[in-house]
Amino acid sequence: MRALVITLLCWCAGTASANILENPSFEVGSGNSAAGWDTDIRSGRYEFLVDPNAHSGRRCVAIQGTEAGVARWYTTDPFLIAGNRYRLSCWVRGDGPVDGRVWLPGGGVTLSFGHEPQWKRVEAEFSPQNTGRHGLYLQCQGTGTAYFDDVELTLVEAKPALGSGAIPTNGAPLTQIVVPDDANAAEGYLAIEARRILKEITGVELPVVAHSAATEGPGRSLCIGRAADVRRYARDLAKVGEEGIVLDIGPKAIACLGNTPRGTFYAVHEFFHLLGCRWYMPWEGGECLPRRQKLALPRRKIVHKPSFILRGGKTIQVYHYPPAMTPEHVDTERWVDWAARNRMNGLRAGYPQMWRYGSIRGGEYHEFAGHTLYAVLPPDRFFATHPEFYTLVKGERTATHSSGRPSQVCIANEEVIRRIADHIIEWFDSHPTAGRFGVCAEDEPSYWCECAQCKALDTAPGIDWSKNGEGVFDLTDRWIWFINRIAERVAQKHPDKWIHTFAYGSTREVPRKYFPHENVMIELTWWDRCFKHRSTDRKCEINRKGMERLAAWSKLAPIAVYGYLDFHQQETPQSFALSDAEFYPEIHRRGVRYVSDEWDATFLSAPLLFNLRARLLWDVKTDVKRYIDEFCQAVYGPAAAPVKAYFLGLERAVAQAPSEHVSFNNLERFTPAVVKQAHAHLDAADRLAGDDATLRTRLARLRLSLKYAEVCLLAKRVEKEPALYADLTRLKREVDGLVKQHNIPILIMAYNLLDMKYQPPVAALAGRRLLQLPEQWLFRPDPNDAGEGERWFAQTSFADWKPISIHSPWEEQGYPGMDGDGWYALKV
Ligand SMILES: [Zn+2]
Ligand SMILES: [Zn+2]
Repeated sequence: MRALVITLLCWCAGTASANILENPSFEVGSGNSAAGWDTDIRSGRYEFLVDPNAHSGRRCVAIQGTEAGVARWYTTDPFLIAGNRYRLSCWVRGDGPVDGRVWLPGGGVTLSFGHEPQWKRVEAEFSPQNTGRHGLYLQCQGTGTAYFDDVELTLVEAKPALGSGAIPTNGAPLTQIVVPDDANAAEGYLAIEARRILKEITGVELPVVAHSAATEGPGRSLCIGRAADVRRYARDLAKVGEEGIVLDIGPKAIACLGNTPRGTFYAVHEFFHLLGCRWYMPWEGGECLPRRQKLALPRRKIVHKPSFILRGGKTIQVYHYPPAMTPEHVDTERWVDWAARNRMNGLRAGYPQMWRYGSIRGGEYHEFAGHTLYAVLPPDRFFATHPEFYTLVKGERTATHSSGRPSQVCIANEEVIRRIADHIIEWFDSHPTAGRFGVCAEDEPSYWCECAQCKALDTAPGIDWSKNGEGVFDLTDRWIWFINRIAERVAQKHPDKWIHTFAYGSTREVPRKYFPHENVMIELTWWDRCFKHRSTDRKCEINRKGMERLAAWSKLAPIAVYGYLDFHQQETPQSFALSDAEFYPEIHRRGVRYVSDEWDATFLSAPLLFNLRARLLWDVKTDVKRYIDEFCQAVYGPAAAPVKAYFLGLERAVAQAPSEHVSFNNLERFTPAVVKQAHAHLDAADRLAGDDATLRTRLARLRLSLKYAEVCLLAKRVEKEPALYADLTRLKREVDGLVKQHNIPILIMAYNLLDMKYQPPVAALAGRRLLQLPEQWLFRPDPNDAGEGERWFAQTSFADWKPISIHSPWEEQGYPGMDGDGWYALKV
């Protein structure tokens, strides 16, 4: 594994002249963009430019107007403290009838300028009303061109904390939250968060002060980021890398810091974690903060580097929301908040788009991932002019499999290799902090290229090309040859970046002839994991094969693991937390440092698993027993004991499942006895919850998931045992009732099963199978009863027919007040 390249920040907390702004001279950035600065046109016609005729350096920013209005470069990162004095200055220039402004509304500052042929400095001192992040706008109104460079925002004079409250602890009371004088967005956000959270816990609101005004006294300070004595921790910081933390609870100060804003974010959250705070899910009620008169702060120093470098994955995102049960994507910001607080640095909703974590959280592990081949070479752009880029199948070029899914590319085509490599180089140019770019085959079934050059790269014996597109071949050698060619080119420009590729489907077996280059990472997909047996259990053939595959690939390249949960019945309890507790430390022991799982389940079905998994990725040495105790205590409070029994009971059911092995979608573990016992634990929990509405909803989520598992089991049985149909209907109604009573959103796939209103009358037909017809038909009203005479039943064109659902009345589907006849059509 190669050394991580770390840029240590310049440590200069406490110097009153440090610029609070990042990238204040716009030197960082590519093209017409500047890192840390956004653009916005309120009205008029404007262009945003980066200009080489700078006041200093090689770049300044400009706004060129052709129609008067308001446009600006801006940042909302600056963190300012009420009452302190700051100075804002900027070098400006104006061409034409410019109305230029440097505007910081939170400080009451407007620095105006007009036509200015030479660079000119504008400045003002101010004192903001509010502590927090403030918007700073470099604005152009009117036409002409306004230029800006070398913006400076500095602390002139800091005020000490006024005599506010103090939080009692077992030692000196906590009296202030200290940030560096030039606090960055994350340090500022964390100070405000610490103030809020400590107030929630104790009822006392601490002051936030700048380092140069922090008082030495009998009290204790919570020092955020570079407000801590950085020199004192230099040796610790040198050990923890880009994302690691130093948390030192001392008698005079609590230091929370890292080498980067993200490291500091995690250090402060480790402090919250020690206090008993948990963010257990991204929804309303997901924040769990203890209530205390006095904080127990044991003398403790934690110096930790995260166990895994990439702690990422992909979640499912579309939910039905009660009471109307309309489908919606969840609020991404809430997911990001959960992810960052639980140190998941690369979670997102889909591939290849990343969730941006924002400067307040120190950003994310940035990458481009997923089945990316056609994202880079989209056939709708290239197929018409370059069919040779795509697969040759039975003598013809195609980009589409017979199922309608994407095909692959002709991997031996030099132009394909060149274009993909160039695309990646450009992407890394414009995403300098990104770590990986995935070049991964399209999902199968799919076609592979049958051209002579592609086939000449294959080494597996007996590939039957008449079966191309049906199943999975062994084509790893051609694939690695292709990936290497791309990686070689990318390495010339970006030697420190990874090219990663799935070992999946037809490229899953280890190669025989072509081995991955130094900058190639293999992402091993692990869908066939047995949760019943330990990953090292050699008698479990599924896990033995998995570990053998990992061992074989590990000899050739660094490995990322791509795991799965139940993607068929996502809302059923995912009782694989104890399996995770053994699996992740084991793959870590075997050298895996990158994890990018599919989080196919949800927080309804996997609250413990999701949280424990995040913790294990952060620290594989986590004491799991203790983690579960603390988790249950923080989230379920007075009901912690029966909830823990509920979780552990379902975990045991996996180990004792009647099936030989347990894959993620195996429901046999939910035997009647297991389900009955689980309900009994939840009944006990409900009794202990009293009238705590938040807790009752948290428990209802567990109940809902358990009942949903019953629905799935019954839905499978009902086809063979029609007498159970009434039970299924009752159970579905109960689940639906819980959803609506507690206002709990559920996943769209789960809802589909619950919402299946029409069932074939299997009971009446003694279980004979019927054709399942879809919900959507075509419809044509027949107000004049003309259909029969005009032989609509014999029509073959339905151009003037409209889609309609058979689940809802006409009145709700665009035919208000309609009575009489109408015709339905369906192609079967
Ligand atoms: Zn080919
Ligand atoms: Zn097994």
